[in-house]
Amino acid sequence: MLDWLIIGGGLHGTHLALVLVKRCGVAPEWLRILDPHETLLAYWERCTTATGMTHLRSTIVHHLALDPHDLWNFAQRRRAQLGQFLGPYRRPALGLFRDHCQALIAEHSLDRLHLRGRATGLTRTAQGWSVETDQGSLAVRRVLLALSVGEQPRWPDWAAQLHAAGGPMHHLYGCEELTVAPAAGQTVVVGGGISAAQVAVALARAAPGCVTLLMRHEIRVESFDSPPGWVGPKELRGFHAEPSVVRRRAMIAGARRPGSMPEDVARTLRRAEAVGMLRIQRGEVRRATFAADGAAELELPGLRLRAAKVLLATGFEQQRPGGAWLDQAIAEYELPLAPCGYPLVAPSLAWAPGLYVTGGLAELELGPVARNIVGARHAGERLRAVADA
Ligand SMILES: Cc1cc2nc3c(=O)[nH]c(=O)nc-3n(C[C@H](O)[C@H](O)[C@H](O)COP(=O)(O)OP(=O)(O)OC[C@H]3O[C@@H](n4cnc5c(N)ncnc54)[C@H](O)[C@@H]3O)c2cc1C
Repeated sequence: MLDWLIIGGGLHGTHLALVLVKRCGVAPEWLRILDPHETLLAYWERCTTATGMTHLRSTIVHHLALDPHDLWNFAQRRRAQLGQFLGPYRRPALGLFRDHCQALIAEHSLDRLHLRGRATGLTRTAQGWSVETDQGSLAVRRVLLALSVGEQPRWPDWAAQLHAAGGPMHHLYGCEELTVAPAAGQTVVVGGGISAAQVAVALARAAPGCVTLLMRHEIRVESFDSPPGWVGPKELRGFHAEPSVVRRRAMIAGARRPGSMPEDVARTLRRAEAVGMLRIQRGEVRRATFAADGAAELELPGLRLRAAKVLLATGFEQQRPGGAWLDQAIAEYELPLAPCGYPLVAPSLAWAPGLYVTGGLAELELGPVARNIVGARHAGERLRAVADA
């Protein structure tokens, strides 16, 4: 029987495996990370590659290692990469961050903990839990759910309908390979946040003049996706003092800055527009059809846009991640939920005896940064306290 099974091998699952092994003394042979991809972090790699981003949005101290200075020390050891931190928050270059992740995985043999598979059910047993997977059942004492909204790309209704009808629609976080539309065709990128800006610029570099970025609003500049005070006690003290989960949910919503981008990304986007590499169009699609030649026709108030290809950079659906198998376990074991549908968990992040959560599932406890890299680090502190107790 395993001591711990982490379901989800993204940034959260990988960091927390390291915490459990190195900080909490869990023997590696009693811990496994269940994830359907070929390697740990595969989904993160795909999403970040898809956007064409060059730097993370988060700071130098937000990474997977235990010591907050580890990324800086890693960069120093590889002198060539010393210049790879951007701006006052010293945001790491994506390549450096990836190399650091892979070095940690190799150093701590975390890849040996990876079980390739997908959880499909959760049953309580006398000793803990039985996790049904597409590869068979696993008996475990403790389960950590490290799922994310990553498998829930958001498709606006008009786009879903056109996609179902065979239109040339793609989602940035879908499974297809990303290429710019074929010659003479316009690619319309839909979205107003950092990923939309980054992918529009990346595509326009490959095919100048062939990209339109369709945004609902003006460019919104914010350094992070929530104000930096939420990373530490400045804002979190008030959040933790708030007993009402309804008000906590409102605080999370109020802190989020969706559809925003940091200054450097906004500057690059404006420059690309100024030199004619891409066009920025403000507006919202009311209706979409597709023409006989297969192009999409997007109708906006007072405007029609024709697109050989439409690429959605519209983020993720915000409903609770997990899906049907988790819904079933929630019903079966009456796992407590807030009115927003998200788990009500203890400060230890326990949702039920032997069942723990991180990421979005822990946000009513960890606050607006729960889904970010620093959210994994906060979860690590909570789990460490469990293991030390
Ligand atoms: C393009 C992009 C850039 C980002 N940049 C930053 C940044 O700079 N800084 C920052 O702090 N945050 C950033 N984020 C936000 C956040 O840190 C990432 O989304 C991060 O990947 C979240 O990690 P995770 O482990 O929670 O989720 P994921 O990386 O999505 O991993 C979850 C894993 O769980 C697996 N899974 C799901 N269901 C099951 C199941 N039933 N059984 C087994 N496995 C399952 C999934 O397949 C996936 O591999 C970014 C997000 C995106 C999309």
